[in-house]
Amino acid sequence: MLEHERVAIAVGERSGLPVIVAVHSTVLGQAVGGCRLWRYPDWRAALEDALRLSEAMTLKCALARLPLGGGKSVIALAPGDLELTPERRRAAMLDLGDAVDAFGGSYGVGEDVGTTAEDMLIARERTRYAYCLPESQGGAGEPSEPTAEGVRLAIAVTLERAFGASEVSGRRIGIIGLGQVGSRVARRLAADGAELVVSDIDASKRALAEALRASWTEPDEALRAEVDLLVPAALGGVLTPGSVATLRCAAIAGPANNQLADDAVADLLHERGILWAPDFVVNAGGVIYGSAMEMEGCTREDAIARVGAITGTLGTVFAAADDHSITPLEAARRVARERLQAAESRKAIPR
Ligand code: NAD
Repeated sequence: MLEHERVAIAVGERSGLPVIVAVHSTVLGQAVGGCRLWRYPDWRAALEDALRLSEAMTLKCALARLPLGGGKSVIALAPGDLELTPERRRAAMLDLGDAVDAFGGSYGVGEDVGTTAEDMLIARERTRYAYCLPESQGGAGEPSEPTAEGVRLAIAVTLERAFGASEVSGRRIGIIGLGQVGSRVARRLAADGAELVVSDIDASKRALAEALRASWTEPDEALRAEVDLLVPAALGGVLTPGSVATLRCAAIAGPANNQLADDAVADLLHERGILWAPDFVVNAGGVIYGSAMEMEGCTREDAIARVGAITGTLGTVFAAADDHSITPLEAARRVARERLQAAESRKAIPR
């Protein structure tokens, strides 16, 4: 059964590319979520991604106590497609703007993997519901900085739960993906004295590994690295029944969206005694910061301070998992569900 409120898929009239918008829930407010510009085997796989990512946004916003719902959009490239020319990229962003505008404000788009703040400025030409604009245009700018700060806080809570001490100093930590978020997390952890094992499919990232005195491991080996805590910071789906069987870590806390290939993987992790911090709690820093700045007009300092709420949220999730003897995934879903149901029943009360 489709759990989403509204889904639209169309071929962009300027770009010829499939543009998908999925709104999972507006119970708590306008559905927000970035636009992913990525290669997929076909449009069905892209649609599947949009459906899963938009549901995760509902959970993320509910757990972060934001007055926002969950949505996501995807512009799907074919496996063999080359980098878009500037003209075709602009066409795709104008198509995205039209697709978002057709939702009449129930969905607001921002940047995500494959898109930038400059892209959002182009989408803005066609809709007022494009966010995450460049700082020079009054936007919140690059969300990776507050996201990385949230990941740092989540790692401390996870270490505390797994080892009884939150300090990263002396801990062996593996980071998979040294992109916008992963590189920032790596810098923070190195500064705090962690022993890092890092990996990326882009060999040019070795320079950062060397600068941070981190060990380099090939992407195929990264998941099997013997570490205290693993930080998935590339794409989703890395935790599968097969990969979980070979893990050699005590805990996992990272920003990559949809880390679990499916929900049953949370049980496998639990059975192996590996503590998993739900990705949609860990990586909420960007949306907390961006919505505080662009929707509430907070100062940068106030917006970054709000990211600190991740510490309490993750603590609540781990405590609920213990109290009810359930996995952190189930606990997080339960907390989110309670908040959504409370909002729904408030709406249902006649005035
Ligand atoms: P990014 O594209 O900047 O970085 C991803 C990095 O992972 C790249 O360096 C890439 O080369 C590397 N990579 C890809 N496949 C890999 C593999 N198999 N093994 C090792 N490395 C691999 O993306 P990002 O903005 O840093 O986001 C990382 C993840 O965090 C994504 O899943 C994203 O959805 C999620 N996330 C990001 C933000 C944000 O603020 N940027 C917010 C929430 C969630």
